[in-house]
Amino acid sequence: MKSVNPATGEIIATHEELDAAGIEARLSRAAAGFARWRLSGLDERTALLARLADGFAAHRDELAAMATAEMGKTLKSALAEVDKCAALFRHLAQAGPDMLAPSSIPLAAGGRAETRWLPLGPVLAVMPWNFPYWQVARFLAPTILAGNVGLLKHASNVQGAAALIERMVKEAGAPAGVFQNLPIRSGPVGAIIADDRVAAVTLTGSEAAGQAVAEQAGRALKKVVLELGGSDPFIVMPSADLDDAVSKAVTARIQNTGQSCICGKRMIVHEAIHDDFRDRFVAAMAAVKAGDPLDPASDIGPLSSEEQRRTVQAQLWKMKAAGATLTGGEALAGPGAYMTAGVLEDVPVDGDLMAEEIFGPIAMLFRVTDIDDAIRVANAIPFGLGSSVWTRDVAEQERFVRDIAAGMTAINQVMASAPEAPFGGIKRSGHGRELGAAGLHAFMNQKTVLRA
Ligand code: NAP
Repeated sequence: MKSVNPATGEIIATHEELDAAGIEARLSRAAAGFARWRLSGLDERTALLARLADGFAAHRDELAAMATAEMGKTLKSALAEVDKCAALFRHLAQAGPDMLAPSSIPLAAGGRAETRWLPLGPVLAVMPWNFPYWQVARFLAPTILAGNVGLLKHASNVQGAAALIERMVKEAGAPAGVFQNLPIRSGPVGAIIADDRVAAVTLTGSEAAGQAVAEQAGRALKKVVLELGGSDPFIVMPSADLDDAVSKAVTARIQNTGQSCICGKRMIVHEAIHDDFRDRFVAAMAAVKAGDPLDPASDIGPLSSEEQRRTVQAQLWKMKAAGATLTGGEALAGPGAYMTAGVLEDVPVDGDLMAEEIFGPIAMLFRVTDIDDAIRVANAIPFGLGSSVWTRDVAEQERFVRDIAAGMTAINQVMASAPEAPFGGIKRSGHGRELGAAGLHAFMNQKTVLRA
């Protein structure tokens, strides 16, 4: 598997794929590792999490440089990602044990029911390249605290980051088998899910990958958490602070060069302020600087690969053919998968195009007549991941919370994940939750104990 620097097109490294014997050895190490780790105390688990936090903090430059080299995110955003992982490890080390406290329920028929949180077993994580550390940390931190063990099948283009994560876990002193990287493509994933030694699977990625993995997990009757795509609405109502809304709309859309599942991808603006918002937003998107991801002056780096840029350009072509108008969004000549930020207008709301997730720095802009219209456009997609609403009217805020079909709504702020809060979607954005107590419990056995 090749790691190609999307800023230059150069091959940085080649990673050998694990063969069948290698996979078998790691599955057997995972099973043996789980047999021991399930018996570890919470002190041992939280101490490992704290050491992992320290390790990520100590190696932040090395980790961030690898992410930037392999998938092109700006170095400043890669550093922020590494710091966020350290914060998550630390958060669960401190707050996690309370989430595993037993509960006691009196029974009407007499006696009590107690509940205990027990681990499930080895969990397979299939992860994407866009946040090569954060996506893995969201699975790894709760895995360790739960007493489970982890197997990682990372995206083929970020195997350098995957190897570094394995090294960080080893250097933090994790016992053998607690976390292992599987340098493989997607081919062997089905057989690994079906293997009796694997208890469950979590996938973050595209709909197609989610369907394949959910089908395999269903056949094996194993629990699966799916964090899939999104096309989040970013709704601006007349009472919003327009300056703030415009500047945050740009932030929301261009973060990670537009390659985040919770980017605000569709700006839905009330007609009373639409033209004003539009003029400022189009100008601000035109001012976004695409350039060397190592240069602190760059707002966005290249897309993660040439192929990713081709995919986005093909989507733009399709949108224009359907009557949309595009400002910006041009592929830049020369080496590197660079493109400029852009804005699409007049995208038909009722057509197939609303099912497209644009994974690049391109916003869609819609004009709506009132709150009902805003909610109609917001929900006119097959996805239901995040949403961001900009209004100072409390009644409007509550309408959005109730009626936007999504797993998350951010009010007067950019949608973002946080270690403490559950994260996940509905509809074709997947099911289940990561982060927060819900994420920790996702792969645990809540055992009921009856006592007289
Ligand atoms: P992807 O192509 O689905 O890849 C994600 C992972 O799935 C990779 O490890 C990939 O391996 C693997 N994979 C692909 N097809 C598979 C199959 N048939 N069976 C098993 N594994 C398979 O997605 P991506 O392009 O890397 O990531 C972008 C997508 O992830 C977007 O849709 C984005 O919205 C979504 N995402 C969602 C969240 C969330 O929390 N909801 C967060 C981040 C990203 P290979 O690399 O070897 O193909």
